Amino acid sequence: MSVEAAADTEGIIKAFAADRSRLMDIVLAVQHRFGHVSDDAVRLIAAGLEIHPVEVEDTVSFYAFLDRERRGRNRIRLSKTPISMIKGARAVAAAFETALGLVIGDTSADGEFTLEWTSDIGMADQEPAALINAIILTELTPQDVPAIVAALRSTDTLPPFPPHAAQIALMPKGSVRPSLVHPGPLLSGPLVQGEGLRAALTLTPEKVIEEITGSKLRGRGGAGFPTGMKWRLTRKSTGTDHYVVCNADEGEPGTFKDRVLLSEFPDLVFDGMTVAGYALGARHGLVYLRGEYAYLWDPLQAVLTERRSLGLLGANIGGHEGFDFDIRIQLGAGAYICGEESALLESLEGKRGAPRDRPPFPTERGYLQQPTAIDNVETYACAARIMEKGAEWFRGYGTKESSGTKLMSVSGDCSHPGVYEVPFGITVNALLDLVGAPDAEYVQISGPSGQSVAPKDFGRRIAYEDLSTGGSTMIFGPTRDVLDIALQFAAFFVDESCGWCTPCRVGTTLLKQGMEKIVAGRASLSDLSATEALANTVMRMSRCGLGQSAPNPILTTMRSFPELYEARLASEPFVPLVSLHDALREAVAVQGREPVSQEG
Ligand code: SF4
Repeated sequence: MSVEAAADTEGIIKAFAADRSRLMDIVLAVQHRFGHVSDDAVRLIAAGLEIHPVEVEDTVSFYAFLDRERRGRNRIRLSKTPISMIKGARAVAAAFETALGLVIGDTSADGEFTLEWTSDIGMADQEPAALINAIILTELTPQDVPAIVAALRSTDTLPPFPPHAAQIALMPKGSVRPSLVHPGPLLSGPLVQGEGLRAALTLTPEKVIEEITGSKLRGRGGAGFPTGMKWRLTRKSTGTDHYVVCNADEGEPGTFKDRVLLSEFPDLVFDGMTVAGYALGARHGLVYLRGEYAYLWDPLQAVLTERRSLGLLGANIGGHEGFDFDIRIQLGAGAYICGEESALLESLEGKRGAPRDRPPFPTERGYLQQPTAIDNVETYACAARIMEKGAEWFRGYGTKESSGTKLMSVSGDCSHPGVYEVPFGITVNALLDLVGAPDAEYVQISGPSGQSVAPKDFGRRIAYEDLSTGGSTMIFGPTRDVLDIALQFAAFFVDESCGWCTPCRVGTTLLKQGMEKIVAGRASLSDLSATEALANTVMRMSRCGLGQSAPNPILTTMRSFPELYEARLASEPFVPLVSLHDALREAVAVQGREPVSQEG
């Protein structure tokens, strides 16, 4: 490492006050300054933070957006999901391969380009999409590719990170467009900045929690834990500090409603976080923003700055003596598992995103071992509106067990992909009518970890008591191959398993192999049974929610579409190419005895 590079690295460490818990920021900054995190950088960072180099390496090696070896100056990551595939991602990938003279996965000899697939980047409504040097380009066609490559070749510097609006505007292809198609009571105007917070400040913190409890608001990330109870538990836990964390790591393929909230309604989200800060007695709010949404960094910082200038963040907020609260944004670095709350906490602390054992729960010991309330982006938006309009108003929508409305991210074979705000209790049929999907043959609710729904079940309801969902709704028409889609979901979990526990690490790979055999038409009835049994084992034995839900696409498509699995069975009985008996003939002769048969 040159003297200048070492000085730059030390400058980065200093900029984050050599704080161990800011390791993610430090390695992200080094990555984007030098294109990778070298051995020398690892040693310098470890020395600067007074930790072992292995701890730095542990973090760097975990995240998809951090590299130990130098890759291309321009990183082109193409979104690989069943939705991007049906929208033409393969043709776009082929056009990039031709324009760059590369195959997917390679880096050009001159070090200018790396071309690769990546998991979902939160653009299911605007596929095919790509993440190019942290800028998202959407609705790509093969014809767009030459101009994009030419624009990337026209500069020779490392692109700034996070990307600035001016840099985004230079790309010869439109970036992310607004996507709220159908607002409901939550997102319909008038929306007055700080209104929810002002209403909260007229109450005591205890009364705020009572109001949230009375609204029956439940976590919008999909798990549905009662928000009022979470806030009450966090408030009553003792610690040197309390923390409010916003989970903006929406990595579930097919979901993008948090992206829409953060880009079109950021004030509402920050308002809800500040309400939580008041209710919990917290001074610190943290937004964990998925690395794929780095393009939102500048606009979100501008909103935070504005809120500080208006007295909606900072000291004595809203003139309320002693209520000090501010919000920091932490960028992730491409790890789906960090959507799981305890893995998210680890990542926030600058570590690899491996789930924690629980108890203790975050309400008791969360960020930096302090009481922490972690809620989804949409949950905070709901909390702000509940303070403004009251618990009764909120309960007026939805069902008895699922109050309020739900933001649904709708993509795939429909006329109007985008975000729809619908009351809980809506049937799948009614939702399909709303989004223009008369020919739907298969709907995947709540992403790969959710449920596969066939037409016979389109009367089921979107609600915690029936089809519980974080909002992802992927629609597939009659020409789509359901089993191939289930295989793609199985492959997704292989990529995203953190590798900690064997049932998930090994099981997801075996499940993918089982699905490959089924999709190829080589599976027998006993292969189907074996795959189903393995799926149940992975579900039961895995350590965290990722492994426990990884078999869902296989199990739920088996239940919803048994006829498709049966139709794909091998038409000829399986005849092994190798005879075990013949293979053992020589050994049997040497030993002078027959092998013991399995049946005994
Ligand atoms: Fe990691 Fe999967 Fe085990 Fe969760 S279930 S700890 S993601 S290996």
